[in-house]
Amino acid sequence: MSRDLLTNLLSVGLDSALAQKALDAGLTLTKLREAGTKELKASFFDNEVKLIKAAVKRKEIDDAVILQLVQKCDWSCCICWKVDDRVPVILHHIVPHSKTADDSYDNLVVLCLNHHGMAHSKWEISRHPTTPELIKSRKSEFEEAVAGFKKGTRPVPGREGDGKDPASHSDVKALTLIAGFLSRPAVSRSFVAEGNMQDFLRAMQDVIRTLNTGIMKTREGDEIDRTKAGRQFTNPTWRERLGLLSKNFDSIAERVQLAVRNNELQLDPVSGFYSFNNCMLPDEIDAARHSAIRLLNSVLFEAGIDPVRGPGG
Ligand SMILES: [Zn+2]
Ligand SMILES: [Zn+2]
Repeated sequence: MSRDLLTNLLSVGLDSALAQKALDAGLTLTKLREAGTKELKASFFDNEVKLIKAAVKRKEIDDAVILQLVQKCDWSCCICWKVDDRVPVILHHIVPHSKTADDSYDNLVVLCLNHHGMAHSKWEISRHPTTPELIKSRKSEFEEAVAGFKKGTRPVPGREGDGKDPASHSDVKALTLIAGFLSRPAVSRSFVAEGNMQDFLRAMQDVIRTLNTGIMKTREGDEIDRTKAGRQFTNPTWRERLGLLSKNFDSIAERVQLAVRNNELQLDPVSGFYSFNNCMLPDEIDAARHSAIRLLNSVLFEAGIDPVRGPGG
């Protein structure tokens, strides 16, 4: 879908669902303007034809202004505050267009159709649920919330109190939980001091699972806690580094398994006791974990969270 074509249709006051329907029928704003009633009726219901005919007569709002509006609120209604609910939205003039014809960023807002209807309903101003002042303040608060969410410092806007749902956690909250889970001997203890190799491999799998799914389990397999998965992070640079981190731990676990197969590491599968035939192996594994933890700590540092200890401090 071309967002440019979509914003172009929003610019004359179509809602995003009807705009999308037009684009799906191959009708851009220019084509809608040229189309006759009969042609429109082939693709749209009668009430939609009415809306389109009224819209195409309007002067277009600047595409750059619209783009800024929909990006800052993530295509969501500033009164609903539901960025993960993709309901149709429409542009609304805070001070009516008929009064000032003000098409500037400050006078425009993205609303869902429900709240748009409410904004246009006739209430006494003292009892009106969506006064221009309220819409204005909700708009700026919402834009701030969306910006914080995209950076990773805030939970999903509108679901701040919803702490039980891991998907609503902010990146910072998720990182705090992950850092707590990774503060464990299997991550920080040097490889030569590892008591049981089977336990070590299981611990690596626990770490990888936590990074990939957000699920934290005890060694016995009981769930301790849960947060969002690395790929659900909203801050893109943190998301990428967490993806890389999980791959790092993957290759550490694979390297140990390879060492067992190659007899670099002699392992008693029952007791988990082991001895090294390749005396370089412990340093190699420690160095790999050390650099993985440095990668994690680079994210934690940016998030203002205390670092996790890796092998060798
Ligand atoms: Zn709404
Ligand atoms: Zn309106």
